Amino acid sequence: MLNAEKFQDPLVTAKGETRASVELKELKTLWFNTGTQCNLSCDNCYIESNPTNDRLSYITAAEVAPYLDEIGSLDLPTKEIGLTGGEPFLNPEIIQILESSLSRGFKTLVLTNAYRMMNRKKEQLVELNQKYPGLLTLRVSLDHFRKEVHEQERGEGTFEPTLKATKWIFDNNIPLAVAGRALVDEDMNESRQGYKQLLTEQGISIDTEDPQTLVIFPEMSDKRDVPEITTACWDILGKSPDDIMCASSRMVVKRKQHQKPKVLACTLLAYDEQFVMGDTLETSHKSVQLNHKFCAQFCVLGGASCS
Ligand code: SF4
Ligand code: SF4
Repeated sequence: MLNAEKFQDPLVTAKGETRASVELKELKTLWFNTGTQCNLSCDNCYIESNPTNDRLSYITAAEVAPYLDEIGSLDLPTKEIGLTGGEPFLNPEIIQILESSLSRGFKTLVLTNAYRMMNRKKEQLVELNQKYPGLLTLRVSLDHFRKEVHEQERGEGTFEPTLKATKWIFDNNIPLAVAGRALVDEDMNESRQGYKQLLTEQGISIDTEDPQTLVIFPEMSDKRDVPEITTACWDILGKSPDDIMCASSRMVVKRKQHQKPKVLACTLLAYDEQFVMGDTLETSHKSVQLNHKFCAQFCVLGGASCS
């Protein structure tokens, strides 16, 4: 169980040590959460998506555009736009949002479960990929390379349709990446080999050794106790704060109760007010106090990054 005294004070840990923070070095990737609703209800979904969770509303193309324009007006080095959810293909304006990003020349990455919803947009996806060659990537989350583990998490009957949709992406020459998960007792290399074998059997040829093309996340649990990250941890762990996701990305969300979108520190902490960085990209340029268990469990100790 997580010790209730931890992750309370943004500046100081439960032991009284200085909490680690991360400076935004440069905004390389700007994420948009397209809305928290999802057609699946995975047990370990870090953002607690399901068909009824609308705490983050469907963001509109008109709300996305000013942020894309701000990248230009501030002359930011941002080259990549990421779209995540929930399931982005449930957003009624997903194609307009994609067009808005691609037409400005951004590499655009969509994280999808590729289960049914994406199939409704196949024609438009083929068109966008032809119109903006090489800019669009679809990253399919395939929870595990073994059907029984995937379906335990995502629901019965979800594995084959997801693989079929993944094969469709590959066959239509749309740049493809896969995101998977390694169980607590699974070695990362073993996991990579498992995905490699599955994808090869399906006739899907991607570079499974490239950590951007086959991303493998560690399993996350809400319940385990985790250490707090102090300023001394960087040296002890041999890690740099510059390598943490919030040093190079931000995420724009539209909270149900808000009139306007907000900019958050990262993709992982959608609901915690401490990680609201401002209304604009300019105001979001501030340091982030690592005052959440995900900071330790997922980013600093897990070594994972959504981008
Ligand atoms: S498919 Fe993704 S967003 Fe949807 S519930 Fe599962 S983990 Fe969450
Ligand atoms: S969860 Fe990770 S990326 Fe997000 S604020 Fe914490 S350390 Fe930064």
